[in-house]
Amino acid sequence: MLLGRHINKFYLKYLWLYLIGVAGLIAVDWFQLLIPEYLGKIVDLFQGTQIDTAALSEIVLGVVFVAFVLFLGRIAWRLSIFAASQRTEAGLRRKMFAKSERLPLSYYAKNKVGTVMAWFTTDLETIEEFLGWGTIMLFDAGFLTLLVIVKMIRLDWVLSLVVFVPLVLIAVWGGLVEKFQAKKWNARQEEFDKLYDYSRESFTGIRVIKAFVCETRRLHECAGIIRKNKNINLSYARMTVIFDCIISLIIALINAIILGVGGYFVYCFVMGDPVVLFSHTVEMSAGNLITFLGYFETMIWPMMALGQIVSMRSRAKASLKRVSRFLDAEETTSPLEKAGTVAGAVTFKNFSFTYPDCDKPALKNITLEIEAGETVGVVGKVGSGKSTLVNSLLKLYPLERGTVFLDGKDITLLNTDSVRSAVACAPQDGFLFSDTLSGNIGFSRDDCSGEEIEQAADFACLSGDISGFKDGFKTVCGERGVTLSGGQKQRVAIARAYLADAPVLILDDSVSAVDIKTEKTILANIAEKRRNKTTIVVASRVSTVSHFDKIVVLSGGEVEAFASPEELMKISPTYRKMVRLQALEEEVEGGCHDAD
Ligand code: ADP
Ligand code: MG
Repeated sequence: MLLGRHINKFYLKYLWLYLIGVAGLIAVDWFQLLIPEYLGKIVDLFQGTQIDTAALSEIVLGVVFVAFVLFLGRIAWRLSIFAASQRTEAGLRRKMFAKSERLPLSYYAKNKVGTVMAWFTTDLETIEEFLGWGTIMLFDAGFLTLLVIVKMIRLDWVLSLVVFVPLVLIAVWGGLVEKFQAKKWNARQEEFDKLYDYSRESFTGIRVIKAFVCETRRLHECAGIIRKNKNINLSYARMTVIFDCIISLIIALINAIILGVGGYFVYCFVMGDPVVLFSHTVEMSAGNLITFLGYFETMIWPMMALGQIVSMRSRAKASLKRVSRFLDAEETTSPLEKAGTVAGAVTFKNFSFTYPDCDKPALKNITLEIEAGETVGVVGKVGSGKSTLVNSLLKLYPLERGTVFLDGKDITLLNTDSVRSAVACAPQDGFLFSDTLSGNIGFSRDDCSGEEIEQAADFACLSGDISGFKDGFKTVCGERGVTLSGGQKQRVAIARAYLADAPVLILDDSVSAVDIKTEKTILANIAEKRRNKTTIVVASRVSTVSHFDKIVVLSGGEVEAFASPEELMKISPTYRKMVRLQALEEEVEGGCHDAD
């Protein structure tokens, strides 16, 4: 059995399935051993000169009856035990998915997506395999072994002794084989993972590969990985074939021993001079020998299974440990107090922030007061902390108490979900799901109508693009939105955030890949549709924010200035430099900024 806090309750929940399964297994084991006995009886029946038709029909009816019992028993155990194991796997997977959504971002910074995916797939499958096949092997092999041993000894203990030694050998050999195979299997899995990662990256990055004409180099690299995969697969197949053939050879040799020794016993018994061993007279008819051979055949699979079950269990135990560690990972608990109705005032008081596992702070002593309804720009060089500043409002990382406030309330003391509902953000790397455009835009709200989605698309200046698509709003964005241009993706992210209709809207560098004309329309929409609602726009071009109420200028993680654009020209050297640089750039490029 595989026990653990996260799995025990599934045994209880599906106990009825396991009970039906085990009952079916035991019935099948019991009745299948009647077959060799009927065979033996038939052989003995044909020894005389006259046929006993009554006995013959009894045997035939018996065989038919056994066949039906086996049929029903097998259906019962297969359906119920696999149903229990599959349901447990699904239950665990549901639990893990729910957990994955509760875990903080820092967890994913420490654990690679591939590793987490492996827990969801390979590890859960290993556990399911043990719960299904492991349970079957345990009960079937255990019960069958006991039953056959008792029956063999009852038939003839001398011949049984002769056979038990090689049978134990089969069990030991099975165990050894399984151990070797597990080792090779792991190596094989590692190679397969490499191939999987390489292919996945190639398909995702196909644009870059083609753009730099790297196809041939990638092909050579991939050919190397494929070769390694082939070699390890071949060596695994070779090993399996050799081990299987050796087992077959051992079985054939044991059969020969039974036939040789047993045949001699039968001969002596039929000739009326039975063998006497250890003061025991061996009275073995031809039918008894056939029955004994049948018992032996039945014994082979449980013997091999006993060897396998040990290593199967240790593999499942290791998988359950990894899954349990994931399920037990620490979550950030959220305070109960809800943000309530939010007007949209945002305050930073002496706010400093350092990313987990980093030494250097990304933000230092930020003190800002954004009033409700203001439209505020955030500018600064790349890496100056703009994204970090706006993201802190989403409580994605633990923050220091008493530093960030929403409507004057400390956000560390407010319920995380309620804070996130009050702050809608179009993140810098606006991720698109492989869903339709309306699905992607409507993602931010469960209850939005098609009309609202269209309005959001209008807000983000996306409607013109969408009407150009054959399927309009039903156009499926490829995985990660491959079919859309950078600017279009950014605008889907803007529409999605706008649709949330939150008191605070954040656009993090969301118009960097949009042409100047479109940008102007979006800015006009912000001025009109977000009137009296707080909007914070992070921008890489100062022109984007130059008409806003106020602008924050960040430099090296610190606020250099926070004032109206006119004032900034006087007090902020960074801002003046940015304005000058941009004017120069526009002169050189003739004002053309279309990066869409
Ligand atoms: P900006 O948006 O102004 O370009 P960011 O806020 O993204 O700058 O980054 C500010 C600093 O924090 C940079 O030095 C960056 O390297 C660091 N940083 C950003 N994101 C992370 C992260 N997830 N983990 C660790 N450091 C980060
Ligand atoms: Mg940024």
